[in-house]
Parts: sequence; structure tokens; C-alpha cells
Amino acid sequence: MRDKGVYYDQEINSVFEKLGVSESGLSSQEAEERLKKYGENELEEKEKISILRLFISQFTSILIVILIIASIISVLLGELIDAAVILFTVFLAGILSFVQEYQAEKAIELLRSLTSPEATVIRDGVEKEIPSKKLVPGDIILLQTGDRIPADARVIKGFNLKTDESSLTGESVPVQKSTEVLPSETPESDRVNMVYTGTSVAYGRGSAIVTTTGMNTTFGELAGLLGTIERARTPLQESLDKFGRWIGAATLIIVAFVAMLGVFYGFPLLDMFLWGVALAVAAIPEALPAVVTVGLGLGVRRMVKRHALVRKLPSVETLGATNVICSDKTGTLTQNKMTVERICVNEQILKITGAGYSPEGEFFKGNVKVTGDELHLQTLLLGAVLCNDADFFKENEKWEIKGDPTEAALVVAAAKAGLRKVELDQKYSRLGEIPFSSERKRMTTFNKLEIESESFPVKGLIAFSKGAPEVILGSCTKIFLDGEIKALSPEINKLIAEKVREMADQALRVMALSFCPLDEDLFLEKTSSGEIPSEEIEKDMAFLGLMGMRDPPREEVKIAIQKCADAGIKTVMITGDHKITASAIAKELGILKENDLTLTGSELDNLGDAEFEEKVERISVYARVYPTHKLRVIDAFKKKGYVVAMTGDGVNDAPALKAADMGIAMGITGTDVSKEASSMILTDDNFASIVAAVEEGRNIFKNIRNFITYGLSAHSGEVFIVLISILGWQILPLLAVQILWINLITDGLPPMALSVEPPDNGIMRQKPRNVEEGLITRREITAGLGLGGLIALQALIVLTWAVDSGFPLEKLQTLIFTLVVFSEMFNAFNWRSDRYSIFSLGLFTNKPLVYAVLITIILQLMVIYVPFLQTAFRTVPLSLSEWGVVLALASTTLISMELVKYFSRKSSPGKNPGKTNSDHIYDF
Ligand code: ATP
Repeated sequence: MRDKGVYYDQEINSVFEKLGVSESGLSSQEAEERLKKYGENELEEKEKISILRLFISQFTSILIVILIIASIISVLLGELIDAAVILFTVFLAGILSFVQEYQAEKAIELLRSLTSPEATVIRDGVEKEIPSKKLVPGDIILLQTGDRIPADARVIKGFNLKTDESSLTGESVPVQKSTEVLPSETPESDRVNMVYTGTSVAYGRGSAIVTTTGMNTTFGELAGLLGTIERARTPLQESLDKFGRWIGAATLIIVAFVAMLGVFYGFPLLDMFLWGVALAVAAIPEALPAVVTVGLGLGVRRMVKRHALVRKLPSVETLGATNVICSDKTGTLTQNKMTVERICVNEQILKITGAGYSPEGEFFKGNVKVTGDELHLQTLLLGAVLCNDADFFKENEKWEIKGDPTEAALVVAAAKAGLRKVELDQKYSRLGEIPFSSERKRMTTFNKLEIESESFPVKGLIAFSKGAPEVILGSCTKIFLDGEIKALSPEINKLIAEKVREMADQALRVMALSFCPLDEDLFLEKTSSGEIPSEEIEKDMAFLGLMGMRDPPREEVKIAIQKCADAGIKTVMITGDHKITASAIAKELGILKENDLTLTGSELDNLGDAEFEEKVERISVYARVYPTHKLRVIDAFKKKGYVVAMTGDGVNDAPALKAADMGIAMGITGTDVSKEASSMILTDDNFASIVAAVEEGRNIFKNIRNFITYGLSAHSGEVFIVLISILGWQILPLLAVQILWINLITDGLPPMALSVEPPDNGIMRQKPRNVEEGLITRREITAGLGLGGLIALQALIVLTWAVDSGFPLEKLQTLIFTLVVFSEMFNAFNWRSDRYSIFSLGLFTNKPLVYAVLITIILQLMVIYVPFLQTAFRTVPLSLSEWGVVLALASTTLISMELVKYFSRKSSPGKNPGKTNSDHIYDF
């Protein structure tokens, strides 16, 4: 049970004691034992579908039940063989669709497990990332802005820690958290020293000790009250269901008509009934949603390998239709490997040498070396190190970083002047901080300094601030110049702005630093509530200098952007960085082309909606934006009919990620909140992975379309054949068992093989799909019914020939039966692509299809030549010349589709022959 009221009214020490843990956290062994005792930290008992239930459900569709009843009646009437074969075929089809549905379930489960959240804990004295479900009471968790709170916990440390508890209380204003002991009887909603599962960190950072997990948490109890969430059907499945129902109704009408006609022509009633139901079972695409889900699932698995993790299956559909990608700059388009190259202090620009995160490098003014102990440089670097949460270290002979790369670059630069963060952090304790946020574009820390140097202007408590130059300058009235704090004149201000521009022009990311002394007592008094009033402190500061760092563009992104342009997808950069820096990088990457525009957040604020919409297609770079600007960009594009993909990582990006057609979160640097709001997560934060995912998305959609069209042509072919033969010749061209067999092999392996067809080179050279268009268009229906008609025509040629030659009925049926099976196999190859010849794609580039067809051919040969199967399927062996006729006719299914593709390519030529993309063959 939940320990109500035992933690919030206790001193932190006694909380530790009660939960049997010290500041170094639980030991792994203890955590393991507690996990056994308390169970996993999960909100819902996952509703696992039982395998047996899934299996039985394959046989509960009305048509199957009717078929089973019909075959039982035939048993009673003595038609044993027929009944047995029908039941066996139904059973096999059931197993096949069971396997398909089971795989579909697995695909969905895999998705769930891949996106399960993680928590940062202290265990065995070290910081670790563990799956949230492994958390136990007593675990110490670390929290920072954007984290989803994984369990109910008592706050033990908090720096401006605020949480968004709207999911619990409906109140959207973030709640300030504190570590203070609260009186007993404080109502749950006022327990500000507790954080709750299901809420998130809106601001600041801190640590907390887990008190309750899983269903015992406040949120868990609520979830229990509300019951478990229902499994939702995806829009794609819905539209497939609709399509299936439509086909189903049409089939039933035709089949009922044909069966009645059969009875009219004198066929036995039961035979016609059995046969009619078999035809209905065969023609209604019941397995379609499952096969589509498998197709989506396999595609999603392939995407994982290409660093894109789709959170919701239907978004795959949207991905393929995306025609504008709005991307963050830092880390997504660039490497996020920062190196400080320029410093501006005391009105001078210094160059810093060295590469990467190695702390080796020197400072130069022009060609003259500058020593690291120069006063202004030292002060600037001291601020850069103290107002900083990152650090660097050496691992396996390589210099690595911990924390934000922008900050780490500053620490590395300081180390080049001999300033070490570990030592400085010990010497100068941090009393508080106002964290960085994309809105504020700055960070401030409060450190207690005991500076020895006589020339340093202040001692005692000091605030260091770093951030975007215009933001920092906006709060400065003074400057540290020539060893003194002087007034900041408009001339100097102008000079600094020029230096910023100079650095930004070279694509450097510029950070400014400032400081100011503070009265310690006053500071402690003002901040006693746990909140630091930024507007009262970040003012009248003294400007220290600028640091310009290089963040090289990712090499692969340039190619990806070109690929987007070829694929008719517009790329837009949206960044919090300076306009000039952003433009310089965008030019280098090929995003900002001639006649394209760059807009800043404030310029956007000054544009009216209509004016903005009119311009939006020409704007390629948005600089100095706030997360809220992203919403306006999405809105404008959507109004123009675009399908918008938008990236985001921060807690405030969540609304934009939700509003975009495709919200994309960053796997490495992204917050939990942004990940939860997204449809897809990039596991490597790389823009190129978005483009890879779009390619996969397009391919999956193309494959689904193709195998549905294949199914349509196969099923309509069967119906046409039967309809025409009964109407024209009063002959039953296929028996019920044969129809079921054809259904089994056409619905079985080939569609699954078609769903793993690799992308072809032409897929990223076509315009994006029109979303309005839906899954199946008139084009697919025409192609499907056209090919169905062709197969029926082939069968009718055989039928006329067989009738004219006076063949016995069994031979006639065997010929048509074999013809249809082979025609379907040729047809399966057709639907590897609706545009390209299978010879240019490479005959063997979809090996599963080759195997599927080979297996089918062997099975069909067995049905014709193995004696007991001959009895079961009423077949007779075929002669060589009969085989010749059958194969020649069947091959026209392939030949005619090749011709159609050839002429359609001629009428709308593309740049590419459509070779299979060899990088992705069988990558599933
Ligand atoms: P993107 O939005 O493309 O990821 P970004 O990282 O530049 O770009 P923000 O993180 O919003 O966007 O940063 C905006 C500005 O805030 C930067 O240009 C920089 O001047 C400043 N800044 C970035 N990181 C910090 C930090 N850790 N401390 C203080 N200021 C920062």
C-alpha cells in the first residue's frame, strides 16, 4: 500500500532512514531485491493477448463459420473428401493469418519496448540511466527540465525546480518545489516537497528519493480508477477495414448471384452453397489489416536500423507524404561538437588553437602569443567555467565531454589557459542558479568567490551570466575594461555588436559573458523561498567579453538536403541561434539559396498572418526564435496544404511537436516531454535520419499499395472467371477446394514478400504523395481490376480450348486451376513496383519473393502429381504441351504489365532507371 503522509512531513534524514538508503543511493543488489518485492514500476498491467485467443479468433469470422458448417453438412451427406480438404485448407489459412496477426502484435510490442522511458538514478554511488520500470522505493532520481517524473518521490535538492502537474490537477501553471518539511495534514495538492508520477519538470533541476512506484503512486491510483486504456485502431487500419467491407459487400452480392445462377442451371444446391461460401472467403480480403500491420512493423524495424524510431504506426503513412521538414540547427544539422575559436576581451580579438575537446591549445592576438593568465581573459574564462554544468574527461585515450557541448567547449577553452573546472568548482561554491532556457537564452550562477588577485574588481558573492550577446548586453550597463569596471557607452556597445557580427559571419556561435557583485545577505533573503527573482538580479551587470565557437555541419546532412530537394521536400532551418550564424551555416548546407529569406523571431512577430503565409514558402531560415514561433510556422505551412515535419528537443517544443503532422524528437539531447509529444524519435539526433525515414515511409506506403493492388487483381480474377464461365458455358471452372487453395497461396507468402520490397533509387526522385489521395486510388483499382480481367481472359481461352477439344471436366478444371496459380505468381513479380521493370530492379533483389514463388510452384506441382492430393483436389496430370499453353498464357500477366509500365514511364519520364537501392536489400 501507499505510505500516505509519511514522507512530506519528515526531515530529509529521516526519509533516507525510513527508506533504508544513503546519499550514494541503493546498491544494485538491494535494488534487485526491492524490485522483486514491489514489482515493476509500471502503470498498467500490459494487456497481453493470449496466443490461444488470437488463434481461435482466426476462425470466428461469420464466413469461416458458415464454411465449417457447410462442410459438416457435406460430411453428413457423405462427401467426405471434399469436406476434409475444405476444413484442412481453412485450418491452414487460419494458421497463416494467425502467424501474420501474431507478427503484427509483436511489431506493436517491439515499438512499445523501444520507446519505454528511462530515468537517471544514483546507484552504487554513481549516476546511471535505467529503464523507469526498474525503479524501486528508495532510489535517488535526478531531475532536470523536460524530464518525465518516473515515480512519486520526495524532493531532496532543488534548484528552481518547478513541475507541470496539469496531468494530475488540470492546473497548467508550474508548481514551485521545495525541500522544506511540511506540516502533517498538508493536503496532497499542496505537498510541494513531493513530485508525482505522470507530471514533468517544467524548469530547473533537482534530485528526489522515490517513495512509491507503479500502481501505488497517485497517478497509478487514478489510472486504476479510470480503467485501462483501450487498444486504439489506427486510421490506416480503419481505412483498410472500410475498403475490406466495400469489397466484401460487392463480393457477396456477386457470389450470391452466381450461386443462384448455378442452382438455376441445375448444379446441386449444397455444392453451389459450399462453393459460393468458398469463393466469398477467398475474395474478401480479411487478412489485409494484419498483413499491412506486419508491413508497417517490418518497415519500422528497418527504420530503427536507420536511427529513426517511430512511436505510432500510422505516422509511417504521414512520413511518406511529408513535403516540408523544419529542423533545429544545433546537433541535428550540425555536429554539436563545439570548439571555441575566437575570444573577444578588452576590445581585442584572440584566436585559440587546438581541435576537438582536447585541452591543448594556445591564445594568439594576431601572430603574437597571449599568456593564459592575462587578467581579462582569466576573468572571462572563470565566468565561463563557473556558469557552466558541463565538463570534459579522457576515456580510452580520447577526450570526451559530459553535459551540453556548448558549455563543454567553454570549459575546454578555459583549460587551455590552465583553468580547471573541478578545482574552481571546489574553490568557489555555487549558492544558486537561474538555468538556461531557450526562451531566456541565458544562464546565471551565483558563486562565492575569494579572489586573491588584487586587480580583480570584486570579492564575495558574484553573479556570472552567459548567453546570447544581445540578451546579455541588454542587462549590462557596465564593462570590464583595462582592469576596471567602466560605464558601457553607446560607442562601445556598437563596437561589441560589430565584433559579434564579425564572428557570426564566420559561422561561429557567439556567447557573451557578464558579471556583477551581490550582497550575500540580501541575496539569501530574496531567495529564501527557493525561487530566484531573475529580473531583480540580472541587471546592471558588467560586460566581460565574447566567445565564438565553431560547430561544423554534419557531412551527411548536405547530401540529405540535396536528396530532399530531389524528392520535392523543402528543408527549413529553425534555430535559437543568431541570424548571421544561422544564415552562414544554412548557406554552407544548401538550405539557404539565392532569393531565399532569413527571418528572426521578432521579425516574425511583426508580420501579420496573411503577409507571413504569402512569404512562408520563400523563408528557409528562422533565427533567434522561441519555441512558440514554431507553431506559427507549422500553421502557415499547413494552411498552404503542406505536410509538415518539425523537430524539437526542449520541454517547450512539445506543443509544436504535437501540432506538426510529424513531430520529431531528439533521442540523445531531447527531453522526455518532447519525446512523448512526438511521432518519431531520432536515435542519433541527425537530420539525415529523418530523410532516411521519409524514404522508408515512402517505400512502406508504396509496398502496401502494391500488395493490396496485387490482392485485388488476384481476387477479382477468380470472381470474373467463375462468373463468366457459369454465365457463358454453364461450367464450374474451379471447385470450392481449388478456390480455397488459390486463396491460401495468393494471400499467404507473396504479400508478405512484397511488404519487404526494398526501396528503389527512384523513390526519392518522385514528388511527395498527396495525402488527400488515400490508400487506394482509382489508379490502383483500375490496375487491379484490369489485371483481374486479364487473368479471367487467360482462363477463358483455356476454357474454350478445353471445351473445343472435348477435355473431361477434371482436366479442364486442372488446367484453369494451374493457370490461375501461375498467373498469380507472375503477377506477384509485377507488384514489386508500379513503375519500374522487374528487370531493372533486379530479378533477385527481393529474395523472399523468389522463395515464396518457388515454394508455391512446388506445392502446386504436388497438388497435380501426388496421387492422394490428386484425389483431394480432383486434379489430373498435365502433358508437356498443356504446360506450354498454361505457362505461355500465364506469362502474359507479367508481359502486359511490363508494357504498361514501359509506356507510363515514357509518358512521364524520371531521371532514374529505378534500380533497387542496394544499400537496403533485405535489411529487415
Ligand atoms: P537550435 O534551436 O538549432 O538547437 P540553439 O542551440 O542555438 O539552436 P538554443 O539552445 O535555444 O538554440 O540557444 C539559443 C541561444 O542561447 C544560443 O545562440 C546561445 O547564444 C545561447 N545559449 C545556448 N546554450 C546556452 C547555455 N548553455 N548557456 C547560456 N546560453 C546559451
